Amino acid sequence: MREREERLLAELSALQNRDLYRRRKVVSDRGPTPEVVVDGQRLIDFCSNDYLGLGRDPRLAEAMARAATLWGAGATSAHLVTGHTEAHHRLEQDLARFTGRERALLFSTGYMANLGVVTALAGRNDLIVEDRLNHASLIDAARLAGARTRRYSHGDACSAASRLAEGRGHRKLLITDGVFSMDGDVAPLRELAEAATANDAWLVVDDAHGLGVLGPTGGGSVEATGLGPEAVPALVGTLGKAFGTFGAFVAGSHALVETLIHKARTYIYTTAPPPAVAEATSAALAIAGAEPWRRERVASLVTRFRAGARRLGVPLSGSGTPIQPVLVGGAAAALAVSQALLREGFWVVAIRPPTVPADSSRLRITLSAAHSEDHIDALLDALSRTLVPVMVR
Ligand SMILES: *Cc1c(COP(=O)(O)O)cnc(C)c1O
Repeated sequence: MREREERLLAELSALQNRDLYRRRKVVSDRGPTPEVVVDGQRLIDFCSNDYLGLGRDPRLAEAMARAATLWGAGATSAHLVTGHTEAHHRLEQDLARFTGRERALLFSTGYMANLGVVTALAGRNDLIVEDRLNHASLIDAARLAGARTRRYSHGDACSAASRLAEGRGHRKLLITDGVFSMDGDVAPLRELAEAATANDAWLVVDDAHGLGVLGPTGGGSVEATGLGPEAVPALVGTLGKAFGTFGAFVAGSHALVETLIHKARTYIYTTAPPPAVAEATSAALAIAGAEPWRRERVASLVTRFRAGARRLGVPLSGSGTPIQPVLVGGAAAALAVSQALLREGFWVVAIRPPTVPADSSRLRITLSAAHSEDHIDALLDALSRTLVPVMVR
């Protein structure tokens, strides 16, 4: 073997020795949500982001199939060339209406939306202030922008405010997850918005896990906090989570969206998402709006999960959202519990560094409107048997 490959393999086996090696499981079949089949074993999925249970809704699949017949499988070019169809355009209008913003702009993924909006708004002479536990795509976006960057401790709006006030920058950006992806807690958006306004900064909120789930109409963490477009001028949402499809968007003013069309390189230099995906997403938005019971149901399952966990001594985080992490600590212990749960028919992935900070490996349990009360109770029972002994030791 070439020496260059041998070096890679040595690095990989070092990861293995630290219990940080990652193996993908191949899903061979999917039963009714939330059932999946892996290696011939039927599992209840407790770790995907299908909060409203829409991912496998036949109405989305039908909308996609119909649209694929009409538009074909792919967009065949970028939005600024020939790839921007009526399907995309309608979805942008639907998303603007859904989020209560003037405009929305589709991106192919949330990762790209974050890179695009941050690099379009900030460059060399600017200041970016961001939460330490922001999603990797926001962290990478700040790096790519090349702006002066200051991170504040998680959820600490005071420290965000002082970094904004002290830092120098031609333009200032304050960027945060709305719902934190690995912790499930909600950012102190009201205080962050005040700090941004006081410092004439752009507040960018990535609400990948809040949209569709939180707020009186599913408008997300920003709506739940009672904030509007003035307070949160740039709102990022993803479509592959609560809405069950694929893609992402940035919602905001006409001026912001036109700026992104001209300056966001992850928008300009990439193929538009398939029009059929856009049609399926419009269908998902309509269903999420027409079936508020999905939001109410997942919220009531969160309450049930937390009450049961308290009763059984399963340690809980402070999260009130469908992301319910159970902190284990070491990577090996988290893996062991995850594997024990797997044997009992539950799929809960162990989240380890570098996705989370050292010694904070966890089981990131996610709840969905598609889970039944029995699913929740059975998981709690399995957790109390597999996890509690590990934690006590
Ligand atoms: C999932 C996620 C993203 C990335 O979205 P994709 O569409 O999967 O690329 C961005 N931000 C947060 C907070 C996320 O959880």
